[in-house]
Amino acid sequence: MSTVYNFCAGPAMLPAPVLAKAQQELLDWQGLGVSVMEVSHRGAPFIELATQSEKDLRSLMNIPDNYKVLFMHGGGRGQFAAVVNNFLGNNGRALYLLTGQWSKSAAEEAVRLVGESAIDTLNIVEQEQGLNKAVLPVLSGDADKYRYVHYCPNETVDGIEIFDTLESPWPIVADMSSTIMSREIDVSKFGLIYAGAQKNIGPSGLTLVIVREDLLALPVVHPSSIMDYRIAAAKDSMFNTPPTFAWYLAAEVFKWLKSNGGVAAMEQTNIAKAALLYNCIDNLSFYKNGVVAANRSRMNVTFQLTDESLDKTFLKEAEEQGLVALKGHRIVGGMRASIYNAMPIEGVQKLVEFMTAFAAKHS
Ligand SMILES: *Cc1c(COP(=O)(O)O)cnc(C)c1O
Repeated sequence: MSTVYNFCAGPAMLPAPVLAKAQQELLDWQGLGVSVMEVSHRGAPFIELATQSEKDLRSLMNIPDNYKVLFMHGGGRGQFAAVVNNFLGNNGRALYLLTGQWSKSAAEEAVRLVGESAIDTLNIVEQEQGLNKAVLPVLSGDADKYRYVHYCPNETVDGIEIFDTLESPWPIVADMSSTIMSREIDVSKFGLIYAGAQKNIGPSGLTLVIVREDLLALPVVHPSSIMDYRIAAAKDSMFNTPPTFAWYLAAEVFKWLKSNGGVAAMEQTNIAKAALLYNCIDNLSFYKNGVVAANRSRMNVTFQLTDESLDKTFLKEAEEQGLVALKGHRIVGGMRASIYNAMPIEGVQKLVEFMTAFAAKHS
């Protein structure tokens, strides 16, 4: 089998050593003679896995003690609803910053649940010489005006990332599905961080929530039990059966991250990977990218061929080289190379070599 580099935006590639270990342990986990999928989530071996995974995550992200870590169901979209259900009961209002497809979807779900009058939106993408630029607003107002402000630091579809920290008088809720653990962040700046696992954590089915404890005391109309942060926190994420295999793989990803220098080391590699690819796009008039340098996503590199009629040929020839899933999201078209933590720099080097050769061949 020749090496395949998978640039899928999600579910995305997992670290090869993690998959190899999972394969090796599949039929006999911890000497129990059964797989991790087949044991009780309330038994000692799985509880130990859960406890260790939280410990590892806390050290990887430097999560302060006054934050709860929850392993939930329902993915990113589940959290679009959960945030609203947990925080906007009793006539609460919220502000949604719009930067692209995912933040728009989050705001739409909020409107669906509590109505337009409870949700304010603010589009923060501007055009600068034809390029998209995200401009963080200066937020001010009474502390009780909004229960939270929601934003998406990395727009997976649009390839726009916000590296600066938002300042706000209201708790900040961030959808970090596609940027979590790709770079160091100061968790204490956020009220709540959530992420579907299938980009940078593990397989789909698991959803990570990191929430400041005092927010769990906010007055609510009760959400459904499995979406209730208070219940999840009180029951150590085991109110009902968690997605145990996904959790196991996430726990292995955390160990892999730790043994590879943690988030700081990932960040350095991610900077190098993104630079390789954006330099290639900038240096060849054959390709273009529509985002200002400061907001170019490190995880989801979107680009277009100047001559769109070559799109199909590009994808076909890339695939022949083992470079797969480069097609952009259907809404925005073009190409997208998702280069999450699990993508080794060799994969990006191979893509750059291919893009350079393809441009030379078709110019
Ligand atoms: C993928 C993604 C989602 C949606 O995740 P699901 O788990 O499919 O619901 C939401 N937000 C962002 C930023 C994403 O990248």
